[in-house]
Amino acid sequence: RDDGVPGRVRVAVRLRPRNAEELVADADFADCVELQPELKRLKLRKNNWDSETYEFDEVLTEFASQKRVYEVVAKPVVESVLDGYNGTVMAYGQTGTGKTFTLGRLGEEDTSARGIMVRSMEEILANVSLETDSVTVSYLQLYMEAIQDLLDPANDNISIVEDPKTGDVSLPGATHVEIRDEHSFLELLRLGEAHRIAANTKLNTESSRSHAILMVHVKRSVLGAEDAIPSEIDKSSHFVKPPKPLVRKSKLVLVDLAGSERVHKSGSEGHMLEEAKSINLSLSALGKCINALAENSAHVPVRDSKLTRLLRDSFGGTARTSLIVTIGPSPRHRGETASTILFGQRAM
Ligand code: ADP
Ligand code: MG
Repeated sequence: RDDGVPGRVRVAVRLRPRNAEELVADADFADCVELQPELKRLKLRKNNWDSETYEFDEVLTEFASQKRVYEVVAKPVVESVLDGYNGTVMAYGQTGTGKTFTLGRLGEEDTSARGIMVRSMEEILANVSLETDSVTVSYLQLYMEAIQDLLDPANDNISIVEDPKTGDVSLPGATHVEIRDEHSFLELLRLGEAHRIAANTKLNTESSRSHAILMVHVKRSVLGAEDAIPSEIDKSSHFVKPPKPLVRKSKLVLVDLAGSERVHKSGSEGHMLEEAKSINLSLSALGKCINALAENSAHVPVRDSKLTRLLRDSFGGTARTSLIVTIGPSPRHRGETASTILFGQRAM
């Protein structure tokens, strides 16, 4: 397998521990999965005597720390963004399986609880020079094919602009906030989350029914300030011009996807049905694009949804992509767990 090759999606699976309710209610039942992390394998139980085995790039048990999850899932992507390439980390799974725990936890009291968003920013800030480089952030929600600005809730229908020459995707209508320290980033995430709750109350929906998208733009001058100053020898020579610094732009996109659970169409109608259709549309469009990448297909169908149009320059090509699929242990959700595992398998 070509590990770490740009263009190929790396897929990790993470199991969350049983919650208090599952510990009691399912006490007599075994988990629906059994993990073999050293073998990077997961067994999905079919019944008491039979199971199906799947392989992933990484298998993270309920004991995996947030630090370890960051290191195996996101760190290689963040490093490549620091080198000037675009990158994406996405969390996919049923509501309640740990997508937000994995990506969005702030870890205010206990820094070991910090999720991928905060750890990625820490890594970026530690590696750029704030004199010559810049880090800006946009925070968005994608709901029913409309992009809303979580940093400016009045701005609720942002258009995607694609550069016909370079294929670069940008959102000039979104708020871009420059980040200079971790504290201001945590403030921004808190503000975005508060706006998300308010917006969803107004729209009469749950946060789990929309995608949350954090975009981090990194602009680095390839020759830092010091390099641009000619050395002693150069100063004495009238022929040597100081080298011109080049600006290199890249972006990191972190996506907390809408819950992947199937909404039963028969039971829902009106708004709920439209919402379910819209989530199915974007997640299946995403699945098709990831499959196309996995199969090295020349045609990646990015046009099918806003989500994939937004991500088009952040996966495939020279970009690096990690997908983390989150699952729960409960035998009651075996069906949803199986479908999440299959989504991850098809990406490989
Ligand atoms: P999702 O975003 O997928 O709906 P959450 O991240 O909100 O799920 O997680 C649901 C619940 O499970 C939360 O209470 C969260 O704290 C807990 N949880 C999720 N993953 C883990 C984990 N790996 N270890 C401990 N608790 C977890
Ligand atoms: Mg969530």
